[in-house]
Amino acid sequence: MRFDAVVVGGGPAGASTARFLAQQGVKVLLIEKKRLPRFKLCAGCLSARIAPLLPEGWEAEVLNTIRGGFLGFRGERFHQIVRKEPVAYIIDRASFDHFLVKSASEAGADVWEGTEFLEFEEEKDSILVRTSAGVVKTDFLVGADGFYTKVGKQLGLRKRRFFRSVELWTEADLREEVVIDVGVVRRGYGWIFPKGDRVSVGLATTGKENTLEVLKRYVNDHSFLKNKDIGGVKGWMIPFALREENLHLGRSRILLVGDSANMVDPLLGEGIYYGVLGGKLLAEAIVRNTENVYEEYARSVKDKILPELFYAGKIAKLAYTFQRVAFSMGGGHAVERFLDLLSGKRSYKDLYIKGLKEFVISLLHFENFSHIIIDKILRRR
Ligand SMILES: Cc1cc2nc3c(=O)[nH]c(=O)nc-3n(C[C@H](O)[C@H](O)[C@H](O)COP(=O)(O)OP(=O)(O)OC[C@H]3O[C@@H](n4cnc5c(N)ncnc54)[C@H](O)[C@@H]3O)c2cc1C
Repeated sequence: MRFDAVVVGGGPAGASTARFLAQQGVKVLLIEKKRLPRFKLCAGCLSARIAPLLPEGWEAEVLNTIRGGFLGFRGERFHQIVRKEPVAYIIDRASFDHFLVKSASEAGADVWEGTEFLEFEEEKDSILVRTSAGVVKTDFLVGADGFYTKVGKQLGLRKRRFFRSVELWTEADLREEVVIDVGVVRRGYGWIFPKGDRVSVGLATTGKENTLEVLKRYVNDHSFLKNKDIGGVKGWMIPFALREENLHLGRSRILLVGDSANMVDPLLGEGIYYGVLGGKLLAEAIVRNTENVYEEYARSVKDKILPELFYAGKIAKLAYTFQRVAFSMGGGHAVERFLDLLSGKRSYKDLYIKGLKEFVISLLHFENFSHIIIDKILRRR
């Protein structure tokens, strides 16, 4: 069997790539190793800027519409900010991903569920793709197979930068707001996001702490959480990119997108928006330019995604090194601007440039400024 493109992985990145390709008349096969709907560990928060990239009918997937939130410090002190218009949406990944795959199928993609990608073999004019359901031939192979990407591994790529993340579900009185706490882990944050009538509680860190122990403390100390039970915790990794060399986009006619490409922001670990956007850019590159698809794709990722990841990384470095200062800025314009970013009205570059001066002033005003600096220098040694 021959296809123009074979996409491996039915998450947001793969399903979107397949949909955008099928919409342009490309003969595309999407293979997903699990039967859908399948569970995916994720807080399921979509920044509102994703809306134009989603297929018709996506609103039915929304469990909670987010209008603002709390920026907290260790679950004790909070700045609150709420808007009239939505800034984000919460979805359930099992249902949302299934919806995206169904949309790809409705657009004309062939979908093979319960089919695992095993390996590829490059021939002169095509690629042989071995799957658990047999061998197919294709012009382009897309790896959208997540953190442990087999396609990426066959290209010799290894993950170097990632958050370790743990998540559980419990009750809290939260419907239209999210909670983000700094001061919980060395480099990262804790969250409480509504999820229907429950909440997702979790943390993401690039530090070396015992995430289960920290989560236990976080749940125990947090004033929003009455139920202190931490049963049912699950963990997974969130890769991210700070610079061009961290992005694994593939080569020639074998391309990667989403988590397999590390297409995730290093501040929050937001990967759904970038995975869907990456899928669109990749599909456009395949449709536009069958000769130099990799170069074309790399160019548009460099133009439209990399600057966001780069400046999110710069903000992450400051915010997670000086977490008290980051929290103190929550009372000013910084969080307002952040909500603008989620809505698609601002970029991370804009946030960084506008926030840097305020950040330095906050840092200088901090009582124990010199102690913080000395402490940071000593800790780095
Ligand atoms: C705890 C946690 C919370 C998070 N919260 C958020 C959040 O609130 N908002 C946000 O934007 N991001 C969040 N993320 C990140 C987000 O989940 C990922 O960035 C996103 O899922 C990436 O999508 P993807 O399509 O690239 O990969 P995935 O969603 O991982 O999909 C990959 C798919 O490939 C399939 N697959 C794998 N191997 C094969 C194979 N060999 N053959 C066939 N199929 C295969 C898998 O079954 C899977 O369906 C969170 C992550 C974690 C761990």
